[in-house]
Amino acid sequence: MQIKPEPTQHWQKSLAEGFNDLAQLCQYLEISPTALNHPLTAPAVFPLRVPLSFAACMEKGNPNDPLLRQVLPVTEELIDYPGYNADPVGDLAANTAIGLIHKYHGRALIITTGACAINCRYCFRRNFPYAEVQLTKSRLDSTLKYIKQHTELTEIILSGGDPLLLNDERLDELIIQLNTLKHIQRIRIHSRIPVVLPERITPELLSILSSSSQKIILVLHANHANELSPAVANVCRQLSQNNITLLNQSVLLKGVNDSVLALCTLSEKLFNLGVLPYYLHVLDKATGTGHFEVSTQVALEVYRQLQTLLPGYLVPKLVTEQAGAAYKMPLN
Ligand SMILES: *Cc1c(COP(=O)(O)O)cnc(C)c1O
Ligand code: SF4
Repeated sequence: MQIKPEPTQHWQKSLAEGFNDLAQLCQYLEISPTALNHPLTAPAVFPLRVPLSFAACMEKGNPNDPLLRQVLPVTEELIDYPGYNADPVGDLAANTAIGLIHKYHGRALIITTGACAINCRYCFRRNFPYAEVQLTKSRLDSTLKYIKQHTELTEIILSGGDPLLLNDERLDELIIQLNTLKHIQRIRIHSRIPVVLPERITPELLSILSSSSQKIILVLHANHANELSPAVANVCRQLSQNNITLLNQSVLLKGVNDSVLALCTLSEKLFNLGVLPYYLHVLDKATGTGHFEVSTQVALEVYRQLQTLLPGYLVPKLVTEQAGAAYKMPLN
């Protein structure tokens, strides 16, 4: 049995109170469950999980809302599409135990926690119920030892799961430890939290981040312009004011953002919030995500039009992750 500690902060309370029941989410969205396309009421793994702040950005009464689609369990997840497997990125399962993935030159990634604030149906993480992975003291020690020995590293990426689900104390400790390593110049945080649970960006958190002697980069994860609510805009402004560089990565998802209009609007809106589009990822072929696949032909056509319509700095790099490659490969 899992004993949950008493939530202490407002954001922890919000997190605990998020939707995990489809009927309740439907009621909130004023959608009749019968209007949904092939809902899966009780997924055996990877349950429905969505914070109220994110649900509040969905359009009421729209069963095809692009934000709802990202979190709605559907029966298509049970289809065994060819070419899909549990671990398409190849290294996730193997490296969870050490807590660090060093795949590219000069930068290494720490899996800080397995937990997330939201369950995105397209995520490769869906096949790993590793929500219990924690940055234990001994694990942190060996991770830091590795980084210390690899002086060619200049950047540490905090990933997960979602690194901003660590409580303030843990995050502070981690950043302080990294700050003692002179060869590390930048700490990059990959998080969906500023978008899906903006209340997590508290004054205390801002103070922890802005106290870092190493430059902090925050890579947000928004897939659609509708995710960028006034609360998210406010959080972006505060982060920028605290000297944090803001980038965004998205995943190209069928029925969510696979149109020129959706992607242009997203880039424009991100820029208005002080965020530069960084990557547009091609879907990792993880079991249960086949209904989100956009064909390479469509992806390239949409991307070509995007390049025609937007200034270069608003066009994210369209990339695909390939096992053994030295960097994320452009798709073309
Ligand atoms: C994506 C990724 C990085 C970061 O790559 P960038 O091109 O620098 O954004 C680093 N390590 C791992 C294991 C990754 O998957
Ligand atoms: S890792 Fe990111 S994309 Fe995957 S479920 Fe968590 S927040 Fe969503």
